[in-house]
Amino acid sequence: MREKTFFDIHCHAMNLSHPSLLGFVKNMNIDTLLFLNSVPIVSTVLSKFIDTRLNRVMNLLSVMERDLGDVFLLMEKDMEPFVHDGRIEICGSFYDRVVLTPLMMDFGYKGMESYPGIHYRDLPKKPIVEQVIDLFNGIRKYARTSGLNLFEIYPFLGINTRNYDMEGTSGSTGLPGLLEKYFGSFLPETLSERRARLLGAMGMFSGDIEHLRDYSFAGIKVYPPLGFDPWPADDSKELAKVEYLYEFCAARRIPITVHCSDGGYRTHKQAKAFTDPEKWARVLSRHPELKLNLAHFGKQDKAWGLFPKRQWQQAVIGLIAEYDHVYTDFSCCGFDEGFYARLSDTIHDQPSEIGDKLRQRILFGTDFMINLLWIDSYRNYLDIFSRQRYFRILDSHQLCSLNPQRFLFE
Ligand SMILES: [Zn+2]
Repeated sequence: MREKTFFDIHCHAMNLSHPSLLGFVKNMNIDTLLFLNSVPIVSTVLSKFIDTRLNRVMNLLSVMERDLGDVFLLMEKDMEPFVHDGRIEICGSFYDRVVLTPLMMDFGYKGMESYPGIHYRDLPKKPIVEQVIDLFNGIRKYARTSGLNLFEIYPFLGINTRNYDMEGTSGSTGLPGLLEKYFGSFLPETLSERRARLLGAMGMFSGDIEHLRDYSFAGIKVYPPLGFDPWPADDSKELAKVEYLYEFCAARRIPITVHCSDGGYRTHKQAKAFTDPEKWARVLSRHPELKLNLAHFGKQDKAWGLFPKRQWQQAVIGLIAEYDHVYTDFSCCGFDEGFYARLSDTIHDQPSEIGDKLRQRILFGTDFMINLLWIDSYRNYLDIFSRQRYFRILDSHQLCSLNPQRFLFE
């Protein structure tokens, strides 16, 4: 019997020390919620809204207060109800292993440097190094303590090219040095070779970041709302850096996941313009071989809270139709059966050739732990996927196994 693998291609492993806590409070409107809750009349009238919202935030903070090893163990515990005779049953398919790709975020950001109105208002910089160390300590702890050992954990390195220069200085590695350090010996190898090398490196962290080697990361995460511009056309210095990144990744078949919804953790003034998938039309016309996942299927907030906006989703579909290595995940979208009904309609409404491409390029992802702002548990998100009626055995296997496997390893 061949082993089958379930993939969660988009999740996060962060704790409270990684983002700026004050930035986080502001971004999640926690300060406003606590204030509303403290005003007697408001808290009575809006009690249901405030309670639900506060509980969601507290639930998220409860997870983020743990070390990352415990977060992985918590996720594994949530998978236990799906395990029967040692195999995980999801959507009627049975899986032996689970691959998680936690996406790091480079919070060394521009745009949220201070918290106005307080004395110590300058926010400290949060170097990504600390996050890297915590993440690999977490993976090692998981590998050593898990009883079930379900997970293979292959993180994506968060990069904002603006935080690096091309040359490198005494205090920081330049962009070429950084890419060389973690991805220098990546080859356009076969799917099983890539996976075996990543598995060989998993859980081997010595505690010293200098010893982290190739194949510690499986790919790269970029996050436009924190100030990454995928195509800074008017800035030749920045453009040279992103071009270097794309060329490097395309040549070595390194997957890139980019945040592509109008929500998320926004600090940059041009967050929306940078996130617009049209930016990637420019990139892909120059680098058509790039392996790219436009996350969240271009989800946009409804206009006036009522009318669905689909321009970004249409743009994502257009890029998938045009380029063979463009994917999209629906992380942070699958909160009810209705979502899967709409996803199925979206595929069926396309001309058959494009519909077929979409079936090959859509990826299952959860966006755990950030998705706790809309759902109560990892288990529940998986359960909704497993029970929905629109993508049954073969189709769902495509979304959560075959497609992500190709994106990640091929
Ligand atoms: Zn995410």
